[in-house]
Amino acid sequence: MPPPGNRSSMSTRAIVKSQFEVAADLIELEDHLRRIFLMPFRTVAVEVPVRLDNGDIGVFRGYRIQHNGARGPCKGGVRYHPDADEQEVLGLATTMTWKTALLDIPFGGAKGGVQVDPRSLSEREYEAVTRSFINRIAIVLGPYRDIPAPDMGTNQQVMAWMLDEFSKRRGYTPASVTGKPVSLGGSLGREEATGRGVSYVMQEYAQDFGIPLEGGRAVIQGFGNVGAHLATFLHEMGTKVIAVSDIDGALYNDRGLDVPALFRHAYRDRRPVPEFSDGDRIENQQLWDIPCDWLIPAALGGVINKEQNVHTVNCKVVVEAANSPVTPIADKILEERGIVVLPDFLVNAGGVVVSYFEWVQNLQQHPWSLDQVNRELLVRMQRSYRNVRDIVKEREVTWRTAAYMIALDRVAEAERLRGHR
Ligand code: NAD
Repeated sequence: MPPPGNRSSMSTRAIVKSQFEVAADLIELEDHLRRIFLMPFRTVAVEVPVRLDNGDIGVFRGYRIQHNGARGPCKGGVRYHPDADEQEVLGLATTMTWKTALLDIPFGGAKGGVQVDPRSLSEREYEAVTRSFINRIAIVLGPYRDIPAPDMGTNQQVMAWMLDEFSKRRGYTPASVTGKPVSLGGSLGREEATGRGVSYVMQEYAQDFGIPLEGGRAVIQGFGNVGAHLATFLHEMGTKVIAVSDIDGALYNDRGLDVPALFRHAYRDRRPVPEFSDGDRIENQQLWDIPCDWLIPAALGGVINKEQNVHTVNCKVVVEAANSPVTPIADKILEERGIVVLPDFLVNAGGVVVSYFEWVQNLQQHPWSLDQVNRELLVRMQRSYRNVRDIVKEREVTWRTAAYMIALDRVAEAERLRGHR
């Protein structure tokens, strides 16, 4: 039986390892560096005990995994999800190393996870899990060591609790966490940065390859931070968002959904997508077969796979807004079918880029305007996109492999220069 949510049984770590090996062979990476990059620098595994509202003590498993810090302090989000086990968190931490290198920001890669369904927690329990988790991992965190941010199941409020817990131990340290509310030192534009960055990459690709966004058709899995903001930017650019889903179900409207109203309903008011009045309710797995130009997974890993849907997806481009949504076999099949896959650590890098801007603003105690944030985000996303596109053309490799080649080269160079005695 495959795991729920259409996910492949292949772990995120196995997906990332297989992708890495293709590029490592092409750039003839030394054996000792392959070995270093296939393992984390440090894994912290903790039990997170919390007093539940019914008086019991709940205990949840948590991880902070630092994959590589050759290019700067480790950086990566914290995910609250029942599937956030060691293999998933390590895969995601590894992807952060490649992402920060590809975008050329001075960070390494890390990720955190707590194996809990946040929807099962009251607000008080949610806060207690966060404080207990930070207490147990604080020893490996810090603005020049490892800086958490939001990911699935966490948000600005969670980052505010993390900052408060960390600052209790070390004094006021805004640069210790990014993705904070603006009133606590967060950056303007951070909340929507990942979705905005995805739209910038799509704009570039649309111009280069003649698949216009205006009038084009997009399908999005996931309507959380990334999916909901991306849908809004696409809608503003004249793209028809014809289907979206969340964990509760999916909605379809061939004329294009009313995105601003859906954003208020599902994102702002946190109500299930399928309870929105406009559009036909469909099953989650039906989403993948809808004919469209842009198919955008923006939720879980491993959702486009051979077992369930890769032979029937019906789009021109798969845009990996989520991390590791396409398995390696599915990747190959999509390539054979002539469907381009724009890879996760290019596409969804907008969040960590603006997290970097937030860290800079905190260290300098000098806030930027929204205009400056978006302008500098655009420059970095465009530059990285064009670097990858040029390698795709020169070396005749996939977009994913090209992105890996650039990132691996940069991290390998840093490792070599730091030296190993
Ligand atoms: P989120 O928790 O805000 O939203 C996740 C969305 O996915 C929700 O709408 C949820 O209902 C939906 N979902 C969960 N399981 C589903 C299922 N089985 N079928 C359909 N929908 C399902 O998370 P997010 O921050 O938007 O992150 C989404 C993805 O983007 C993750 O892969 C994450 O790693 C990646 N990402 C996020 C950021 C960021 O800044 N938040 C940055 C880079 C990458």
